[in-house]
Amino acid sequence: MTTIGSSPSSRRSTPIWPERELLFPLPGGWQRLIVEASACRSCPGLRGSRPVLGASDGPVPAPILLIGEAPGRHGAVRTGVPLHGDRTGQHVEHLLAVAGVPREAVHRTNAVLCHPADERGRNRRPQAAEIGRCARWLAWRLQVVDPPIVVTLGAVPLASLEQIAHHGLRLAEAAGQPTRWEGRWLLPLYHPSPRALARRPMGRQEEDWRALGALWSKVTSA
Ligand code: SF4
Repeated sequence: MTTIGSSPSSRRSTPIWPERELLFPLPGGWQRLIVEASACRSCPGLRGSRPVLGASDGPVPAPILLIGEAPGRHGAVRTGVPLHGDRTGQHVEHLLAVAGVPREAVHRTNAVLCHPADERGRNRRPQAAEIGRCARWLAWRLQVVDPPIVVTLGAVPLASLEQIAHHGLRLAEAAGQPTRWEGRWLLPLYHPSPRALARRPMGRQEEDWRALGALWSKVTSA
């Protein structure tokens, strides 16, 4: 079994999504990803929004990549920082503290970079086509951030990663259980939004996030 914290050179050097390689921009650095993704207007239903990404997303490279669903209107849309500025962001800070993970170790993003809004401007779930189009930017980010630990929050980012490379995981069965995926640890977690807490209460989520703390301890002690 591959050990936690294996060096980047020991991981795959081939493209993450080889059969769709022509859809990808040439591999480039973080600054280039920001410039190119910021100009993306590929989703017809999201043209009233702008991609949320930038230097405030976190360190590059980073030991942990935290992937949410999409920018929320009271959070990332307002602050320009993924998983920040609303109650979901507060819950993320709390759960990182429960896990014993320093926020400086975490790079944050969303599976869909633009804000999916309904006709009244409220948050809506991203459509499958939107998740599919935006997976290219997530795949590119995985390359440049190169995290030993990938954490998904909710079913949407888990579906996005499935398009990048097969994992076959379902959130209900896999939550809180680290799995090897593409030379990294993949830890599926429930989304900590106030609405999602109805399905996975905070006490259960705190238990789930302690699995992240255990992974973090192994990575930092390796
Ligand atoms: S959601 Fe992603 S793919 Fe769609 S327009 Fe925004 S950046 Fe482009």
